[in-house]
Amino acid sequence: MTISIHGLPVSRGVAIGRAVLVASSPMDVAHYFIQPHEVESEIARARAARDSVIEELYRLQESISHMGPKEAPHELSALLDVHLMLLQDDELIRGVKGWVADRLYNAEWALTAQLEVISRQFDEMEDAYLRERKADLEQIVERVLRAMRGVASPITVPLQRNVRRPSQPDLLLGDTVDVPLVLVAQDLSPADMLHFKHSVFAGFVTDVGGKTSHTAIVARSMDIPAVVGARNCSQLVRQDDWVIIDGDAGVVIVDPSPIILAEYGFKKRQRELERGRLSRLLHTPSVTLDGEKVQLLANIEMPEDASGALQAGALGVGLFRSEFLFMGRRGHLPNEEEQFQAYKRAVDGMQGLPVTIRTVDVGADKPLDQGVHDAAHLNPALGLRAIRWSLADPAMFLTQLRAILRAAAFGQVNLLVPMLAHASEIHQTLAHIAQARAMLDKRGQAYGPVQLGAMIEIPAAALTLKLFLKHFDFLSIGTNDLIQYTLAIDRADESVAHLYDPLHPAVLQLVAATIAECRSQGKGVSVCGEMAGDVGLTRLLLGMGLRSFSMHPAQILAVKQEVLRADTTRLAPWAQRVLEAENPALAMASGV
Ligand code: PEP
Ligand code: MG
Repeated sequence: MTISIHGLPVSRGVAIGRAVLVASSPMDVAHYFIQPHEVESEIARARAARDSVIEELYRLQESISHMGPKEAPHELSALLDVHLMLLQDDELIRGVKGWVADRLYNAEWALTAQLEVISRQFDEMEDAYLRERKADLEQIVERVLRAMRGVASPITVPLQRNVRRPSQPDLLLGDTVDVPLVLVAQDLSPADMLHFKHSVFAGFVTDVGGKTSHTAIVARSMDIPAVVGARNCSQLVRQDDWVIIDGDAGVVIVDPSPIILAEYGFKKRQRELERGRLSRLLHTPSVTLDGEKVQLLANIEMPEDASGALQAGALGVGLFRSEFLFMGRRGHLPNEEEQFQAYKRAVDGMQGLPVTIRTVDVGADKPLDQGVHDAAHLNPALGLRAIRWSLADPAMFLTQLRAILRAAAFGQVNLLVPMLAHASEIHQTLAHIAQARAMLDKRGQAYGPVQLGAMIEIPAAALTLKLFLKHFDFLSIGTNDLIQYTLAIDRADESVAHLYDPLHPAVLQLVAATIAECRSQGKGVSVCGEMAGDVGLTRLLLGMGLRSFSMHPAQILAVKQEVLRADTTRLAPWAQRVLEAENPALAMASGV
């Protein structure tokens, strides 16, 4: 039966594929794709683990047969029988074999996927006794997984591009590795998303998350259709269901009918045509009708993203979120050399164009991982995040600063500091930068000059611009957080997503004032939050005087198209009217 689930659209386009449910099982296992030549050994690994559990249960059965009813009640023996029966059931091993051979899932993933399939069958049983056997099944699968850990199972390996990603979903392909896959999860951390960055998924959907949560931001940077905040989607979708993800409307359609499939196939082709049209703008300079040059920059998460940024037509990196180098490392933060190499790769990758490296911004919805700098505070968005975290750990901060300064010897680097609000934080930050330089001098190690920038993402910063402009060469407006903190809306919480409003007059006033103040003092200013990549807001930002936009690379050409059509002499008075309006969205709709 076809069902539609509504969520928040976070990354445009249409994806059609088979559902891959990850982490929906309470069992924490690694998910990765194996190579086709590993299928046999992977199945053998699962079978060996199952056989060892069967042997263990037989041994147990044998030992209790010598015990009296007090030590080994009859129920225990009956339970072992049930477990043995479930373990030897053909459906379990046949299913596992199928997931491994057809989908190239690793054995642990295949086992939990099959557990889910059989569990559903148990759930649907009329007989209460049989329904309850689901718990037994879970127990035996846990045992097999435990046994597998002893059978040379790799630790967590990210999902990698081992499987061909089909260019066109073909619903007639049947169960082969060519079937497009879409990821369905209750939640995904930004670090999980990074693992999926080079994976085979054609789209993804999560139950939780807001439009500018970091998970959504990484999805946009991957440029695959995505929907977040789809409530109980991961419970409604079953492993391997056909799913359509409509990243424009924020809709997920499960088990679509042929008519719906045809409709979405058409939509998908339209989008591809639109992309083709935009690609013609790649080498067109980004200049408005009245001759204003507009700088379009890229936001990146990893140094390797630099090449994609160049290909998308970016004239530099306006935001390198360095925290992604720090996440998911099980407590081992990158040392100076590793960071230096990463920053240098980004600088080299941009071939002489500027790279703005932001110092680490972990905390809130970007935890490092369990065990390192506990992020489980009462209100992490208001807690030890970004520069606060850096200043609380001077050795870590100095390490990062030295690495960035050293990379600056190889190209144009701007150093950007997130979440500043207090004069004391500014002074401490500057003192740390001076100290990092002094340390490098002492070592006799080369480093380069950097332009210093501050993020304006806390209202307190936007209201004390003079202080910031006294100490920094440029400002970068982080609208994602500026909106979150101005409106007291958690950007990652879908239940208040309807109140997360970039067009709230208070937000617009803070953004406009920051742009105006920087321009009047001749300092650089850009927007690097998601507003910069929203084509619906390009003209408004241009009208406010913004000439530098930093966004995920996939949006650059669409924003360029808006720039090419814009006349800032007309947009400036219009933007002023929008700013003064009680309802800016309505004022915008009334046209320039
Ligand atoms: C922002 O807050 O707008 C921003 C660009 O930083 P991040 O999204 O990484 O918090
Ligand atoms: Mg921010």
